[in-house]
Amino acid sequence: MEKRFLEKISQGDILSYGEHLEGKLHISSLEILTPLKEIAQKLEKKLILVILGESKESFKDFEVLKDSLADEIWFVFHPELKYFREDLYSRVLVKLIEMAKPLGFFFPATFSGLSLAPRIAGVLNLGLCAHVNKLEVENGQIVMFRPTYGENIIAKLISKTIPVMATLSLGAFSVKESKEEPQFKEILFPENFSWESSVKVRKIIFTKKEVCSLSSAKVVIAGGRGLKNRENFSKLFELAKLLSAEVGATRPVCHEGWVEEERMIGISGVTVKPKLYIGFGISGALQHTAGMEEAEFIVAVNTDSSAPLVKMANLALIGDAPTVLKLLIERLRKEGS
Ligand SMILES: Cc1cc2nc3c(=O)[nH]c(=O)nc-3n(C[C@H](O)[C@H](O)[C@H](O)COP(=O)(O)OP(=O)(O)OC[C@H]3O[C@@H](n4cnc5c(N)ncnc54)[C@H](O)[C@@H]3O)c2cc1C
Repeated sequence: MEKRFLEKISQGDILSYGEHLEGKLHISSLEILTPLKEIAQKLEKKLILVILGESKESFKDFEVLKDSLADEIWFVFHPELKYFREDLYSRVLVKLIEMAKPLGFFFPATFSGLSLAPRIAGVLNLGLCAHVNKLEVENGQIVMFRPTYGENIIAKLISKTIPVMATLSLGAFSVKESKEEPQFKEILFPENFSWESSVKVRKIIFTKKEVCSLSSAKVVIAGGRGLKNRENFSKLFELAKLLSAEVGATRPVCHEGWVEEERMIGISGVTVKPKLYIGFGISGALQHTAGMEEAEFIVAVNTDSSAPLVKMANLALIGDAPTVLKLLIERLRKEGS
């Protein structure tokens, strides 16, 4: 890997944060390169993916990166970057901004992206736009779009500060490949840079929880308040197993603690584009439907025939959602046995 020194970092380009876990890239790091590449080309800038990690040996996805849309991949390696620690990671990225003076710095709206972007914007006194789902260039400026006021309007935002900073919605963009291989570079930091962190990692214990791949699922089964309680909601996972589906949810049920927030569909959560979406006891508020309206076939189960989701559905079942869910599981089990 070619080594470059600080002074040689190209300035005024577009940076994108690449999240990874133990050297394996999060899919969103590749998804957001699609709109970013378009704006970079329009602005005649380079698109640079920034990845922080422990060492070259610990990063496992070089092959994946070879097909990515990035023009350059910048790695910052240091033993202290082995674990994601907000204070250190954000300090490294602030330093990188000071060194590279990019035109824009964009983050996927992942756990770490949502944590880093506001910290960096705060330190550098920059504006930050959250949950952007479309980017354009107008009159040489980066224009960001995001639903606002409960999705009643789409806000069009132009940053007053440079670098333009935003978090980009998960699942809102599709991964595209490039025929040209990016250049890989390792960015060296000044000798006097402090790699200290106030967080000491003693042990990492991975939960047995399965990784949620909601944004790329072909079948999504979602539940809302009409499922009445956590026990009924948990049955969605039984149905999901039978249909090889992922489970999604509305915001109120995530807030009730029936399921993790990473399963929230809508403007505050994930965008899904499955072939089949089934909504159990979901009213179909705009904030939710904004995240699933591109589903190819929509089924709504609701007691209220005038619910917005029922109206937008290709097929509606007017009835009690917990009962329909139970009967559907029984029926599929019977057919499968
Ligand atoms: C800034 C902002 C951002 C938001 N972001 C999001 C977001 O990203 N995602 C999101 O989902 N929400 C979001 N919301 C919340 C959103 O406005 C709605 O309140 C939410 O989507 C409604 O969830 P729900 O459909 O589960 O509940 P409800 O609106 O209460 O609907 C429950 C539905 O269940 C039906 N029902 C009741 N009993 C039964 C039964 N026994 N069987 C079948 N059906 C039954 C009812 O007829 C009703 O249609 C946001 C709100 C704001 C203000």
